[in-house]
Amino acid sequence: MSPRRLPRPLRLTAAVLATALSLWATWATAAITDVGLFLDQTENIRLSDHSRFVQKLAQIHREAPAMTSSQQWRLRYLDGWESSYEGDYAKAENRLQDVSDHSGDANLAAKALALLMSIQVINQHYDKAYELASNMVTRLPKITDPLARFLVLENLAQVYNFAGQPNLAAHYARMMRDTIPPGESECLPGVSLVVAEETAKRLSSSSPSLENAIATCNAAKQPVLVDLLQLVKGDMLLGEHLPNKVLPLLNSIRPTIESVGLYPHRLSWHVQQAQAYLALGEDAAAENAARAAIAMKTPGDVGEHLADAYHVLYEIEKKRGHGMAALENYEHYVKQNTSYLNDVSARALAYQRVQQNLLAQKMQNDALERQNQVLRLERSLTEQAAHTTRLYAVLLLGLLTLLVLWLLRVKRLQLRFREMARRDGLTGILNHQHFMQEAETLVAEQAKRSGNVALALIDLDHFKQINDVHGHVTGDLALRHIVSVVQAWLRPGDLFGRLGGEEFGLLLSGCAHDECVALAEHVREAVAATPLRLDGEPIVVTASIGMAFAEDVGFDLSRLFHHADATLYAAKRAGRNRVMTELTDEDLLGRSVRDPRPA
Ligand code: GH3
Ligand code: MG
Ligand code: MG
Repeated sequence: MSPRRLPRPLRLTAAVLATALSLWATWATAAITDVGLFLDQTENIRLSDHSRFVQKLAQIHREAPAMTSSQQWRLRYLDGWESSYEGDYAKAENRLQDVSDHSGDANLAAKALALLMSIQVINQHYDKAYELASNMVTRLPKITDPLARFLVLENLAQVYNFAGQPNLAAHYARMMRDTIPPGESECLPGVSLVVAEETAKRLSSSSPSLENAIATCNAAKQPVLVDLLQLVKGDMLLGEHLPNKVLPLLNSIRPTIESVGLYPHRLSWHVQQAQAYLALGEDAAAENAARAAIAMKTPGDVGEHLADAYHVLYEIEKKRGHGMAALENYEHYVKQNTSYLNDVSARALAYQRVQQNLLAQKMQNDALERQNQVLRLERSLTEQAAHTTRLYAVLLLGLLTLLVLWLLRVKRLQLRFREMARRDGLTGILNHQHFMQEAETLVAEQAKRSGNVALALIDLDHFKQINDVHGHVTGDLALRHIVSVVQAWLRPGDLFGRLGGEEFGLLLSGCAHDECVALAEHVREAVAATPLRLDGEPIVVTASIGMAFAEDVGFDLSRLFHHADATLYAAKRAGRNRVMTELTDEDLLGRSVRDPRPA
């Protein structure tokens, strides 16, 4: 079992202090000329030559050279490191947290946090340690300083291994091995890999990784780590029932175990010795070794090594038939083992708890992200919908516009057709039917207001001859010409229509009897005086006009027609080209109005 997996307070032994003091004079004499370089050198030997490290640290403080702010923070970090090495974790935590929070140096802060992470583990603040660990994992890409990165990876490997996650631990150990900073060696990554393999139960005493790690740590002059690896190997050999190989191994590391004196190493060393002796049947030696281990125990100490020591004593007493003593040792063994197992499960539980928290956080983030995606999708859909709606609106508007235009066109056509239906095709004035309708309305209106209405029937004289002489086409031109001549004399409100052939009706209102007659007279004169000119040749047309007045015959259209018809034929008989308003005596003598005799 690895003492590194369960770091008990790391304390310098009196021996180390003594060595440190004795060697102090040797290095203390060298004055500090380059503070930065001196700090580098000090940091590099913190593990390999810890006593010299302590001296150098003391020297910097004693000589208190003028340091830049960043150098002062580095010193504070090294002080924190030393406090943790000495087992003064409260002091170490303060110093390291200070460096992490206030140094403003990302790499130095990373180193401080890496160490803080291990201290949290030692203090059994597992939740904090694992939270810090996952925090460090996310920071890892930003840690550019090779040494800081190396240390962070090392502590991650340790913490994850400790949490019962050897695969993760091995992953970070391999990352360490891939980028070894100047001044460091393959020793630390090798140790981390070995410890991870041990946790994963993939290690044996003959594993190449173990042999390699021992070789590299030896070459790198890292006695503490060599001891650790040898103790791991001893543990393996015991498990493989090769106790006779354990004892020479323990003897080979005895000098450094005693001189460096790391508490867990010394404890483990004694326990392994006890177990090996017990397996070899050397009970007395086994008991001595076990008691030596238990003697190191400080009150409140618990752990697997002490459990193993008590187990050795229990086995020996049992063999000797000392029931009570055996039972007493067994109780100690159970107590130690339970505490150790409790601690192991506490670590695993804490790890799972932190993982669950992180997972929950991640799921929450994922859920938020998904929610955002949905919102984004909804927004784009709304935008699309709005766009589509706009498109539809534009289309609809276009369609409506087309429809309106089409309706307007239809309406115009209808109006045109209606107007065409009302108009005479040749001359464009009201046709017979419409003239009658309009006349009816006008007469009725005038009847209501007792105005005057006069109907003038206009018939062109001898028009047949025009056709006969000039042709029908010229006759048509003459008809249109005469219409335009008459129209020039019309007032607004006068009704003018073609009643058929060369006969026209003119309904006048709002004029007194004589005024109406005068207007009819003007019309007649104008027709006679304005010949149609065809190729310079004048074609004279005259008209006969017969008139009837409502004041005489009443407001009745058919009576007006009847009377006007009569006066028209009276005009014809009287010689044409004239306006007649009264029947002549001759007419009154019983001639049929529709039987005019030729003049
Ligand atoms: P009067 O009324 O003076 O007695 O003689 P008239 O020749 O005008 O009379 P009649 O009613 O005999 O002839 C009307 C002529 O008008 C017959 C026809 O040739 C002509 N006429 C009628 N409608 C049209 C038309 O639309 N175009 C042309 N060119 N001639 C038409
Ligand atoms: Mg006629
Ligand atoms: Mg005529």
